[in-house]
Amino acid sequence: IASQEAEKRGWHLYLVGGSVRDLLLVEAQPGTLMINDIDLVVDGFHQAADVGAGIELAKALQQIYQNARLEIHGAFQTAALLWHKDPELDSLWVDIATSRTEFYPYPAANPEVEASSIRQDLYRRDFTINAMALRLTSPRSGELLDFFGGLLDLQAKQVRILHPNSFIEDPTRIYRGVRFAVRFGFQIEQRTEEYIRYAINSGVYDRTSQENTKTPALQTRLKAEFKNILAATYWQSALHLLDNLGALRCLHHSLKLDGEVLRQLSLLDIYLRRFGQQQNLHDWQMRLEVLVAHLEPKYQAKVAKNLQLADDSISRFNKLFAAQTEIITSLPNCELPSQIVHLLRKYDLATLILIALQSPRKIRRKIRHFLTNLAKIQPLLNGNDLKELGYKPNPLYKQILDDLLTATLDGTIKDKSEAREFLA
Ligand code: ATP
Repeated sequence: IASQEAEKRGWHLYLVGGSVRDLLLVEAQPGTLMINDIDLVVDGFHQAADVGAGIELAKALQQIYQNARLEIHGAFQTAALLWHKDPELDSLWVDIATSRTEFYPYPAANPEVEASSIRQDLYRRDFTINAMALRLTSPRSGELLDFFGGLLDLQAKQVRILHPNSFIEDPTRIYRGVRFAVRFGFQIEQRTEEYIRYAINSGVYDRTSQENTKTPALQTRLKAEFKNILAATYWQSALHLLDNLGALRCLHHSLKLDGEVLRQLSLLDIYLRRFGQQQNLHDWQMRLEVLVAHLEPKYQAKVAKNLQLADDSISRFNKLFAAQTEIITSLPNCELPSQIVHLLRKYDLATLILIALQSPRKIRRKIRHFLTNLAKIQPLLNGNDLKELGYKPNPLYKQILDDLLTATLDGTIKDKSEAREFLA
């Protein structure tokens, strides 16, 4: 339907990017192909006004598929159609762009867009395997446009960059390259690896890891790529490869994947399986926080802020060092369950997990005991019971309930009647 609509207007329509790559991959190694993200490019127009062709096509399609939601990104002259949880299509995201080149006025800036041909559109992409197009309109519909050797690279199982300056222009491509290599079991082609190392050594990340108001869009994309990597099943191999390439310095120049942080990351998985659901912690975010927590305390909140982590993460890092100092000093002296509870209950789950991972076994055990058992224990009587016993709501309520909790935790009282006696 999309190609008919394009043909009606005298335009060419192409499937481009990741979905072409994935179609070719599945042809070579049959398996299940799930494409929920489709990129289309409209090209071949004659008038300047057609620069909004992608948007016009998306609008025409939305007239036909009224259950699709339309989003328009005017600045980039692109539109997206989203079918969300359609019973037949599940969720499907179709991006429609007008072919364009991107011109970088300075490294690591946001692309500016101007109309151009499909070849140039493909040339602005990151890797040869992502820079192929499949023509959807006639004549020659079904033809593969492969100007840069993408198919050969797919066959050779390698991730190859399109042009030498690519990583300097956009350092997030280093993360993307690693992700594709690990995900498909490909190698990063030798020259490409040299360009990566060159870009990193040239300080491309040092610019981005400093507070830099000029590049907020870059930070957002960097975080998105981090998220993609850390949420994937292959996150460990990807992290090793990033470390090997020196690319973790986009977080901070001092970050290295040493034995200690690797130990913490694998222990984290156990904590996430056990407690993660309690507060809907995201695996990727906690992995990232473990990496940040591995830095010297004075850098942590700043790095979290630069990475545009959520406000609660940033405030966690602002307080982490003090929390850790308090727990390390006081928890060993807490013998009674109530002492453990009073010390630990003021901290959120993520803080406790980060501290547990960094602590010696004895402390870790107590934190785990708190999270597994003690945190769930409630006082034997609640507010309603107190009312029934004739206590009028007053500021002391909280204190009474707290005393009851202490007695419940420490086993001084074992049931409601003992609790009533305790109050008396
Ligand atoms: P995935 O299957 O992981 O989503 P994808 O290749 O579809 O992979 P997207 O992030 O959806 O990845 O990007 C779509 C296409 O846009 C890519 O295939 C690539 O051609 C191009 N692209 C995305 N990010 C960049 C970038 N930073 N630099 C250049 N081209 C990019």
